[in-house]
Amino acid sequence: MNRDKEVWIFVEQEEGEIAAVSLELLSKGRELAERLDSRVCALLFGHDIAYLSEQVIEYGADVVLLADHPELASYRTLPYAKVVIDLVRARQPYILLLGATPTGRDLAPRIASAARAGLTADCTDLQIGEYRKKDRVYHDLLYQIRPAFGGNVIATIVNPDMHPQLATVREGVMRMAQPDRTRKGEVERVETQFDARDLALQVVKREMQPLCCDLKGASIVVAGGSGVGSKENFQLVFDLAQTLGGQVGATRAAVDAGYVSQEHQVGQTGITVRPRLYIACGISGTVQHRAGMDQSSKIIAINSDPDAPIFQIAHYKIVGDLNEVIPWMIRAYHENAK
Ligand code: FAD
Repeated sequence: MNRDKEVWIFVEQEEGEIAAVSLELLSKGRELAERLDSRVCALLFGHDIAYLSEQVIEYGADVVLLADHPELASYRTLPYAKVVIDLVRARQPYILLLGATPTGRDLAPRIASAARAGLTADCTDLQIGEYRKKDRVYHDLLYQIRPAFGGNVIATIVNPDMHPQLATVREGVMRMAQPDRTRKGEVERVETQFDARDLALQVVKREMQPLCCDLKGASIVVAGGSGVGSKENFQLVFDLAQTLGGQVGATRAAVDAGYVSQEHQVGQTGITVRPRLYIACGISGTVQHRAGMDQSSKIIAINSDPDAPIFQIAHYKIVGDLNEVIPWMIRAYHENAK
C-alpha cells in the first residue's frame, strides 16, 4: 500500500444527509486509489455525525477522518477551512477532491491557497496518467479533465509539482457505485480547536428551500429549448413531462429567456442528468447542452430544422413543429394507455 499517494475526499453532509456528489466522489476515489495502490481517506465534518462513517466506508473510504464538533454543525468557511488546512499540512495527501457545490467551491480555493497548490474547478472526468516535461517524466499524476473555452475544447490539466492535486467535480458526472455493506474501514477522530478568529461569523438563522424538481434522479426528462418560444408555451413541456411521469429540463437559452427557472437547466453550467429517456423539444443540441446529457439515454428530438445538431445524437428524430407534435404525443399516450 502506497501511503504517499492517498486520495482524499471531502464528504459534504447537511443535517445528517450525505450529498450525492460526495458518494459519487467516494466511488471515483476508490477507482483512483486502486490505480495508485493507495487508500481513500474521507473527511467527514459536522456534529453528532459519527454514525455516517459506516455509509462513507460502504461507498469506498478506507479511513474516515472524523471532525465532530458543535462549531462544525453547519458549514461555515473559516472553521471548516481551518480543519481541512491543518490536516492537509500535517498529512500531505496526494489528491484531494471536493464536489463542485457552493460549499466545495467556497472551500477548495482556500485549501489551494494555503497549500500553494493548483486547483481545477468543475472537472467532468478524472484519470491517472503520465506527464512529460522536457526530460522529466511524472508518473501517476491526476488528469483533471474539464470543458474549456466555452466548452469548445476538453482540457486535461495536471499539477506535477505542488500537491495535493486539488479538483472540484461536477455533480452527477461520476457514477455512484452500489454500497458494499461488507467493506471495513477505520474511523479516526480529529482533534479540533478554534480561536475567536475562526468563529468570527455566527449563523443566526437558517432557512432551507426545497428543490423544485428532482432532475438528477429522474428516469424520464422532457426538456425544452428556446424553440418553445415563450414562458406560456413552456406549459406544453410540463404537460408532456407530467403525462409521462417525468421531470422538466431546459436549455440555458430557455432559462435566460425566462421560460423556466435555473434549477431546470441541463448542461455544462447546469445539471447532469442520467435518465432512461430524454425528450428534447425545440433544442438545437449545442455541445454545452449535451455536456449535461448522458449519451446512454434514449433520446427523442423534436425540431423543425432537419439539420439541427441534436439529430446527430437522437435515437428517434421528429422533424416538425413542437406545438403540433407535443399535443399529438400526449394524445397518443392517453389513447394507448387505455
Ligand atoms: P437554440 O440554439 O436557439 O435552438 C433552438 C432550436 O429550436 C433550433 O434548433 C430550432 O430549429 C428549434 N425550433 C425553433 N422553433 C421550433 C418549433 N416551433 N418546433 C420545433 N423546433 C423549433 N446551454 C445549455 O443548454 N446548458 C448549459 O449548461 C450551457 N452552458 C453554457 C456554458 C458556456 C460557457 C457557454 C458559452 C454556453 C452555454 N450554454 C449552455 C449555451 C449554449 O451554447 C446554447 O446557446 C444553448 O444551449 C442553446 O439553447 P437552445 O437549443 O434552446 O437554443
